[in-house]
Amino acid sequence: MTHSTGGSIARVEFHAPYHPNVLVRVLDKYYSIDGACSNRSDKYVHWITHFHFDHIRSSVAGGADFLLKQDEKITIYAPDDKTPVEEGLNVFDIHQHLYNTHSKGKRQLVPVNGNENLRINGTTIESVPLKHSVPNNAVFLKNSEADFTVFVTGDWLGSDEENREAIVSREPSILISECRYIQPDTYDMTSSRMHTHLNDLLALKELLPDTVIIPYHLSRTFSDISHLRVVFKKHGFVFGKKILFFNNTDSYRITEEF
Ligand SMILES: [Zn+2]
Ligand SMILES: [Zn+2]
Repeated sequence: MTHSTGGSIARVEFHAPYHPNVLVRVLDKYYSIDGACSNRSDKYVHWITHFHFDHIRSSVAGGADFLLKQDEKITIYAPDDKTPVEEGLNVFDIHQHLYNTHSKGKRQLVPVNGNENLRINGTTIESVPLKHSVPNNAVFLKNSEADFTVFVTGDWLGSDEENREAIVSREPSILISECRYIQPDTYDMTSSRMHTHLNDLLALKELLPDTVIIPYHLSRTFSDISHLRVVFKKHGFVFGKKILFFNNTDSYRITEEF
């Protein structure tokens, strides 16, 4: 039996339809994925899925260093991306340096491997590698006091069989998935750019009939948000800026539209 906080058991919140930031609350714990930082380490986990700039920029600078005491540090979990860059440095190293410089050492990147399990704030946090143009760690959240799970993809190649299996095998209660394009004639382009298309989510929905699927991180080329709303609703996806879940993951309400 799951207990609720403020009348809801979970909340999912986005910055904008095209942004990669996701803030998930499960009971009273928060998981900021590719988003800004908070100083409450007893409540917040900060996670970077991969080192593309739109996914890191909020946590490089956004948030509350000024609230920290001199010796406090914010931990940000990020992929241990060993791809060489220059002069013996790899992708993880140069970003660690970037975060240190901007935060005067108050934000620390901690490397996470694919398929690693972390135990933080009563939650098992599983890093699930999903194929993208650079190493991408999706995140699978299992709060020990909740009877539901949450999976957040980051960017991923939606047409890839192994990627799909990595999600389906975990049977998440809530799946928050990138969905870059929706038009039928953009499928091949979406795949060649290592992203995910509406048709990929439709295939997932067939395999995960009990999962609440929330598309996010759409292309900036969509200016008509109301059209997106109609399309996603027609297919049974949940699309909104703030979504609250009540007694179980089937009972939800979009409390703020994009
Ligand atoms: Zn992205
Ligand atoms: Zn990306």
